[in-house]
Amino acid sequence: MGKKQYSGKLFLIVGPSGSGKGTVINRLKERFSDFVYPVSYTTREPRRSEKDGESYHFVSKDEFERMIKGDEFLEYAIVHSDNYYGTSREQILGPLATGAVVVREVDIQGFHSIRDLVPKENLVSIFMKVSTLEDLKGRILRRGKMSDEELKKRMDSALKEIAQAGECDYEVENAWGKIAECVKSVAKIILDEIDSL
Ligand code: 5GP
Repeated sequence: MGKKQYSGKLFLIVGPSGSGKGTVINRLKERFSDFVYPVSYTTREPRRSEKDGESYHFVSKDEFERMIKGDEFLEYAIVHSDNYYGTSREQILGPLATGAVVVREVDIQGFHSIRDLVPKENLVSIFMKVSTLEDLKGRILRRGKMSDEELKKRMDSALKEIAQAGECDYEVENAWGKIAECVKSVAKIILDEIDSL
């Protein structure tokens, strides 16, 4: 059976933890309020600045597993070998079916799952690159206190993700201090792509 076609387009922002995906999406939200930005579910603890329902829906492991059984996720994955993260099927496919532009960040596993479910014509993947691993390490550490083990998990995931960057449709560099340029490049990709809808 072929994949269902949609009239909208889904932009997946992929890249290691600390590569600036969240910041890019926040800037896109300010500039393009007519795009849809689904809120994923996670079992990780909220960071100090995060509010439930804004960055994520923070749920317990039991609740997450209930949602898996209920087939509520388009995809879900265990990220950094400890917490569940999942995109809501309804929040992604609903807007896609009505022709919306949908923007969501996922890890590389999420990208692989969604690539198998959403037709090529409806999906664009953008990988966020950093200049160096040292730079990435600095950015991860600036987010707050973290054990050596936590940091190692994130750096290990980062190396795996970077090795697969070439599978994405686009790669955009988020060089230190150049977030505005990076957002501009991502916005240009989106606008060029939706021109062809
Ligand atoms: P963080 O805990 O730093 O917010 O996110 C950790 C990783 O999980 C990031 O790479 C982020 O892009 C990814 N992530 C966030 N939401 C989802 C989701 O719904 N599905 C998947 N597969 N990964 C996600």
